[in-house]
Amino acid sequence: AAAESTVTFDGRFARELAELAVPWQAEEAPSPELLVLNEKLATDLGLDPQYLRSPEGVRLLVGNHVPAGATPVAQAYAGHQFGGYSPLLGDGRALLLGEVTDRAGRLLDVHLKGSGRTPFARAGDGRAVVGPMLREYIVSEAMHALHIPTTRSLAVVATGRQVRRDDMLPGAVLARVAGSHLRVGSFQYARATENMDLLKRLADHAIGRHYPHAADADNPYLALFAAVVSAQAELVARWMLVGFVHGVMNTDNMTISGETIDYGPCAFMDAFNPAAVYSSIDVGGRYAYANQPVLAEWNLARLAEAMLPLIDQDQEKAVAPAVEVLGSFRGHYSQAWTRGMTAKLGLDSVDENGAGALVDDVLDILKDGPVDYTLFFRNLGKAARGDLRPVRGMVLDLAALDAWLDRWQALQPDPDLMDSVNPAYIPRNHLVEEALSAATGGNLAPLQQLLEAVSDPFTERPGLERYLQGAPDDFGSYMTFCGT
Ligand code: AMP
Ligand code: MG
Ligand code: MG
Repeated sequence: AAAESTVTFDGRFARELAELAVPWQAEEAPSPELLVLNEKLATDLGLDPQYLRSPEGVRLLVGNHVPAGATPVAQAYAGHQFGGYSPLLGDGRALLLGEVTDRAGRLLDVHLKGSGRTPFARAGDGRAVVGPMLREYIVSEAMHALHIPTTRSLAVVATGRQVRRDDMLPGAVLARVAGSHLRVGSFQYARATENMDLLKRLADHAIGRHYPHAADADNPYLALFAAVVSAQAELVARWMLVGFVHGVMNTDNMTISGETIDYGPCAFMDAFNPAAVYSSIDVGGRYAYANQPVLAEWNLARLAEAMLPLIDQDQEKAVAPAVEVLGSFRGHYSQAWTRGMTAKLGLDSVDENGAGALVDDVLDILKDGPVDYTLFFRNLGKAARGDLRPVRGMVLDLAALDAWLDRWQALQPDPDLMDSVNPAYIPRNHLVEEALSAATGGNLAPLQQLLEAVSDPFTERPGLERYLQGAPDDFGSYMTFCGT
């Protein structure tokens, strides 16, 4: 195991925040089999891909071989789920193996999901199944390639155990890598213990790992809150720009780092639709596409509440500055959204030339669709190069589109800029489903090809034509499921 020794696992979270960490062991996987390994990420972490493919390496990836220095723990957190507060959630089926320092010097969590019941498992079986873990792998790696902050996926290992869902399904463990797994819900949990020393250590840990500049501010904890507000505003704007619907923006699924986390019921929208919802349990549409900025702001208000006693010992004095910082969310968000949309249209600035309405007007045209959101913007890049046919073939109201195209082309859009921000390849729902059902049946080729497409999303390549296209008509309306 010489390869392993090049990486030292730390247990910093477990050591600094012992009240939030329950030392625990993964359930034994009867016959682990590596389904997919992120060799590039492994190498960046200093983990030898060849070692990870060895029997001991695969056992490491399911939690059955504990590497030197690692102290696996289940993390405690609370959270508002669909608006209702749960004082105790925590890792019911996951373990933090420990932290490693990557080749760029970043401290990263290595975390296992589906590794068996923990003291936080409640009625759950602690397990995960192959399909949803591969789904997280595909979508998180696609998000990373789209330059959207996210947890990463290192590997998916089938456990060799059948897991009871509606049917019996093959079990799996996902090895996930993140800047940290600190959540809004971690602060809610710490606050609820009324242990101010713990709350302070948690905030200091977050500052140390994610926002070291906050330590130098007059009020470091207010600066930490402001940094999270701006990171989350930027993140959600980026989701909106690519048509990503997270699906379960509970406070336990919102990170302090500003990385996207918890790829359960998420989906990329096909046709542009502000009301798009894919999660089977989101019957009220709380986490619909267009609601995401508002719900992020709501979650940040819950973070502010948890942090008030840090911001000022006299909590009443903390309210005004916290509200002011929270109020900066909208400005950060609209700035990031406008900047992103401007680039999607190939323009330097939509504020010039009275062109600010271009964004609203094009979305109005899409709304009257159905128009595939991703393909429309990609084809608009072709229009900027002089070929209007692809984009004109997508819209019924050609009079409205042509009038808009005239106004837009007068601003001389830059097609290279457009192609660098409007992806050709996203993990389209019908392609993801196709890859997952093939993989569940033992054929990993469609998964590998989809990963190849979405890992380099901005460069159109021959042989991948069908990956550009929207869902076929017979795909129907798409529904996703949590907790599987
Ligand atoms: P999520 O909706 O994925 O954010 O999960 C909410 C909570 O349910 C977290 O505390 C998870 O750890 C827990 N959970 C989800 N699935 C399972 C499972 N199969 N067994 C135990 N806990 C689970
Ligand atoms: Mg979660
Ligand atoms: Mg989940």
